Amino acid sequence: MPLLLDGRKIQSGRIKHLTKITEGVSRPPTLAIIQVGARADSTLYIEQKKKFAKKIGAKVVVFRYGAAVSEEEITKKIHELNADPDIHGIIPQLPFTKHLDVFTITESITREKDTDGLTASNIKLCLENNPQGIIPATTKGIIVLLDYYSIPITGKHVVIIGRSTLVGKPTALAFINRNATVTICHRETKNLIDVISTADVLISAAGQPGLITKEHVRAGQIVVDVGITAREIEGKRILSGDVDFPNVSKVVTAITPVPGGVGPMTVLSLFENLFDAYKK
Ligand code: ADP
Repeated sequence: MPLLLDGRKIQSGRIKHLTKITEGVSRPPTLAIIQVGARADSTLYIEQKKKFAKKIGAKVVVFRYGAAVSEEEITKKIHELNADPDIHGIIPQLPFTKHLDVFTITESITREKDTDGLTASNIKLCLENNPQGIIPATTKGIIVLLDYYSIPITGKHVVIIGRSTLVGKPTALAFINRNATVTICHRETKNLIDVISTADVLISAAGQPGLITKEHVRAGQIVVDVGITAREIEGKRILSGDVDFPNVSKVVTAITPVPGGVGPMTVLSLFENLFDAYKK
């Protein structure tokens, strides 16, 4: 069996440390979440955040809007939250409905409360490898996970599948900043299999169940599965990653499970970002 990169274990190990920070405080670290519409996956992610917040003595307040809400209404709320000393972080639970301009909305969040690291000024700080930059939660979660298991990053070839603004691109940047050699693959990439064969670390963030099979991988590789797709199989809700775990895990050196790998690391890192803002 390969080394199982256990995000749940790391998350529960950090609870004690985070709880110490909130012990006896009258104004706990508080995260405001903006939700538009009623996507079941968004609601599930918000519930997971609330559950974790409760465990560590933090607070989550959710502002829900109908699908037809205007940009102005949301940005007005964000300006209020920016000015509210009891709010330490603000995140839009993306994706939003198509008519909303996500850029305008995220840019209205003040940099200090930009827990997801989405604002232009935050991205610039990350581009410059400035420690003040807030690293987006999923990216930070992947790095913390590899560091926890002492998996070397410097000089390694990291292949990332997916070029989204939320995951693929910031992850590429973070690994360059950690002195890795990075390749990003996407829908138009030719010979995915050949590119992947050169990876020391493979990070798949495509949201395509079964994309990575045992034919793609080889012994010695580290596989991080960021994909989470919910599927109904025989009336049951099953979460699948991009990786064919049962077969790929027979070949590679280390692998994350789905669920229980990157998911809990993302929630943990989001709250680590919130606590950093709170301490400041
Ligand atoms: P997320 O927000 O989880 O990163 P997105 O749906 O925004 O997910 O992005 C998915 C990314 O995965 C895109 O960059 C896309 O090009 C890439 N992708 C999807 N399917 C494949 C595939 N079969 N081969 C390579 N890349 C893929």
